[in-house]
Amino acid sequence: MANVTLTINGKEVTVPAGTSVLDAARGAGFFIPTLCHDPNNPGYGGCRICVVNIKGARALVASCVTEAANGMVVETESPDVVEARKTIIDLLLANHPADCLTCDKNGDCRLQDYAYLYDVRKSSFTGEKHNYPIDDSNPYIRRDLNKCVLCGRCVRTCEQVEDRQVINFAYRGFNTKVAPAMDTSLAESACVSCARCVVVCPVGALTYQNLAGKARTYEIRKEQVTCTFCEAGCQFDLNYKGDKVLGVTAKEPGVGRPLCLKGRLGLELLYADEPVKPMLKKDEQFVEVSWPEALGMDDVLKKLDELKK
Ligand code: SF4
Ligand code: SF4
Ligand code: SF4
Repeated sequence: MANVTLTINGKEVTVPAGTSVLDAARGAGFFIPTLCHDPNNPGYGGCRICVVNIKGARALVASCVTEAANGMVVETESPDVVEARKTIIDLLLANHPADCLTCDKNGDCRLQDYAYLYDVRKSSFTGEKHNYPIDDSNPYIRRDLNKCVLCGRCVRTCEQVEDRQVINFAYRGFNTKVAPAMDTSLAESACVSCARCVVVCPVGALTYQNLAGKARTYEIRKEQVTCTFCEAGCQFDLNYKGDKVLGVTAKEPGVGRPLCLKGRLGLELLYADEPVKPMLKKDEQFVEVSWPEALGMDDVLKKLDELKK
């Protein structure tokens, strides 16, 4: 494949043709912030926080969807770029709860990191804010859409990595939000609780129910292990605080297979303090059931009885 040579922040950089300016800059050691960009699912260009200055271009361009070209001269932190990024963060914070003190994503949140980096302490805009109820209907995933920055990473991951298409953008303008079909709760949707969407969410809009309130992100140590409940060998992370396992979390898309419900439930049983109560979805609602019913034993016993007759 042919190479192209460009100049980034005064440094000559050579990359294969077709490489994005974002990847070329990052490869050369320059930082560019991103919210919507997903290396496993690139080419979206929605959030615009990755804008850079390219000499001769009519406006700042999104580096994640711009191919590097011969002779290009790029500035990744020029004053106009920094100003644009500050404005984007300012606009995002205008409709965002100031909830970092109790947010489970605190310490591992890109919006928080970028607000700190670009010194945007609070929004200069005033206006209406969303007040969505938190969706904790799914036993594994908690959705707080008040914190969503509409980056679309969850939508693309569910559609292109998991091949599920459970969630998508709904409504228009200020009311745009990510939702399952007919704007139901996650429990009422076709979600299989793979949690890949949680892994890619850059903020605290999607978090794990089993870790809620148990530890700050920086107190958690992750250890990658392979599930032994079947021959598929799905990978996941055990999350430790000290020596104690708090729960299991999914791997990012591209690393092994996602953990299925059987593995997730089985592993939580192994590491839970309290005995886990089995739940089954009946009439679109999760209800507590007995273990024989959860494991399908009632059906098996009924079938055996019928066979005996
Ligand atoms: S999502 Fe990020 S910025 Fe928002 S409250 Fe949580 S930690 Fe703070
Ligand atoms: S948990 Fe998996 S199936 Fe459910 S919405 Fe997220 S990516 Fe889609
Ligand atoms: S829920 Fe998270 S990943 Fe999905 S659009 Fe909102 S911020 Fe992005």
